[in-house]
Amino acid sequence: MTDGLHGELMRQLSCSGLPVPRALKPGSRFVKFLALVSATYQEFDPDDRTGGTSSSALSALAVEKNRLEAVFNTTATGLCVIDAEQRVSQMNAAAALMLEVDADEATGGPLADLIRPDARSPADARSCSQLVAAVAESSEWRAPMVSLRTGQGGVLPASLAFTPLSGSCARGFAGGVLAISDMTQQERMAWQASHDSLTGLRNRASITKYLSAGAGERPRPFTLLFIDLDHFKTVNDTLGHSVGDQLLVAAGARLRQVTRPGDVIARLGGDEFVVALPGLTQPQAKRMAERILSALRRPYEVGGERVYSSASIGVLSSRATGDANAILRDADLAMYSAKGSGRDRFAVFDEQLRVDASKRAALETRLRGAMARGELQVAYQPLFSIATPQLVGFEALVRWPDSSGYVEPMRFIPVAEESGLIGELGRRVLLDSLGLVRRLHASHERGLYVAVNLSGMQLSGGDLPDLIRSALARSGVSGSELRLELTESVLLENKLEARRQLEEIRGLGVRISLDDFGTGQSSMSLLHEFPLDSIKIDRSFVAGVTTDRSSRAIVEAIIGLGHSLGYEVVAEGVEAEEQMAELMDMGCDVAQGFLLGRPLPASQAVALAAEWVPSQRHRAPDGAAERPAFIA
Ligand code: C2E
Ligand code: CA
Ligand code: CA
Repeated sequence: MTDGLHGELMRQLSCSGLPVPRALKPGSRFVKFLALVSATYQEFDPDDRTGGTSSSALSALAVEKNRLEAVFNTTATGLCVIDAEQRVSQMNAAAALMLEVDADEATGGPLADLIRPDARSPADARSCSQLVAAVAESSEWRAPMVSLRTGQGGVLPASLAFTPLSGSCARGFAGGVLAISDMTQQERMAWQASHDSLTGLRNRASITKYLSAGAGERPRPFTLLFIDLDHFKTVNDTLGHSVGDQLLVAAGARLRQVTRPGDVIARLGGDEFVVALPGLTQPQAKRMAERILSALRRPYEVGGERVYSSASIGVLSSRATGDANAILRDADLAMYSAKGSGRDRFAVFDEQLRVDASKRAALETRLRGAMARGELQVAYQPLFSIATPQLVGFEALVRWPDSSGYVEPMRFIPVAEESGLIGELGRRVLLDSLGLVRRLHASHERGLYVAVNLSGMQLSGGDLPDLIRSALARSGVSGSELRLELTESVLLENKLEARRQLEEIRGLGVRISLDDFGTGQSSMSLLHEFPLDSIKIDRSFVAGVTTDRSSRAIVEAIIGLGHSLGYEVVAEGVEAEEQMAELMDMGCDVAQGFLLGRPLPASQAVALAAEWVPSQRHRAPDGAAERPAFIA
């Protein structure tokens, strides 16, 4: 049966030491296999001269080698063969051309000398060291976009792929082939159009396209995570943009690490990332969100600094309908809700969030209109010193009258903050307040101050000291007649920047009051971290000062602490005479509340002040409309 098989195959069969089967069953699978192998031999050596074919097999190999060499030398892809010592043992013409090196000179040199990152980019440096590590570990590695330095000092945008020659490892040989693709032209443009150049992740356009493409057949279940780094702006402002950029790159790399190959990661811009996770159920999605939170919470080593960060995540699950923008918007709403409930956590989207968001949007539109029409007003609530009863100042409180009375500041101030309207709102309240002081001057009232509430946003612009300086100069009001009330969260939002600005503002003679004291989490530490003059005990504690033992203890402690640090202590929300008596016993300095006086229009505030003319300040005003009950 072996008759007719190629002579070289026969020779090899006999060399194998196996007995050559002389009579095999015709048509058996082995015979068919031998016939196939024989045909291949025949293709390379048609003039089968049995006994002389080992040389023709060699020439077949030579042909194959020539063919591979031709491919190696003519392909447009740059190819470098890397040996076990991470040296370039061979490189093709394309690689030499792209990297602008002499192939003969570069051959034999270390890989790290050939593949060098563009010096300006930390991301590229990281890619190049990852490549060297991958070669050392004999593991597959690719980078979609790396800028390399060429031999002539140019920059080559390239994609790199390293394939280890794993088959050779058995013989103690590691190494592999590095493929370099020039991304200079269209490809690079296409890559750039769909990728974020900083992190190498997809960009907004690309994720939008991905989400739109799948609109009809988006896999179910499907999850989108909307990730926003917490307090990223602080990192940028305090450590510089380069450190900020490195943090973003590192965060992107961590997202890559915790996700799977089929997941899609994009950076939308700034510190916002999106991860699309096909095939995840909601419980799995929540676990994934937890994993990402803990990955992003690990400290970062960037720019020689140890940087702490965290993220807030919005989880949108199992949505198979809706366009890409709607999906991103809903996931963003969930992220916002995570931020609102304290950051470093995730929140799952639900329809109520959208209802709230549209209510907020409607309120914002109304607020814009009201501000444009000049409908906002300022009311002034009097503050009294307790020991020697006298009027010491007013707190400015914004008022928005509407058809049903007033819109609560607690409702619209957050909307003004989110929309950026707070800058203009705050400026108007400040100017109105200085206007009140001028009217007090006009009626010969001096020495009273007006306290203005400040939002965090007003400190983030950086121009608050200038605004205050010029407003004071223009109105002729002295700094000591103005106070700013800030809450703890305002100070914590951007510590360094807040402190810098507050110091500058204090330099103008303006005093700083810490509002709602005791309600936050870090009240104590803030006391010595910030330049302060007074603290206002939150009215929730004042409310319980006569009825609730712990409130009483807290009020007493705040007064003691404040005094020992040299601060004036103000109690707000005093509604009852018993509370007033208690505060007086405890040695509280200043009181404010409905018992003593409600917020008044400016003209009534001026009238109230007139009843407390300086010479009479030590006795009760006659027939005062807002007579402080504790003096009567
Ligand atoms: P706040 O700074 O703690 O202001 C004191 C709030 O307590 C005011 O509420 C005031 O009317 C109220 N109040 C005063 N005495 C009493 C009392 O005896 N009992 C009770 N229950 N409440 C009393 P309002 O005017 O509704 O303001 C609420 C918050 O809105 C303020 O809290 C402040 O955080 C913010 N706000 C008000 N005006 C402005 C402003 O012009 N700018 C900024 N950024 N925030 C403002
Ligand atoms: Ca206040
Ligand atoms: Ca307060």
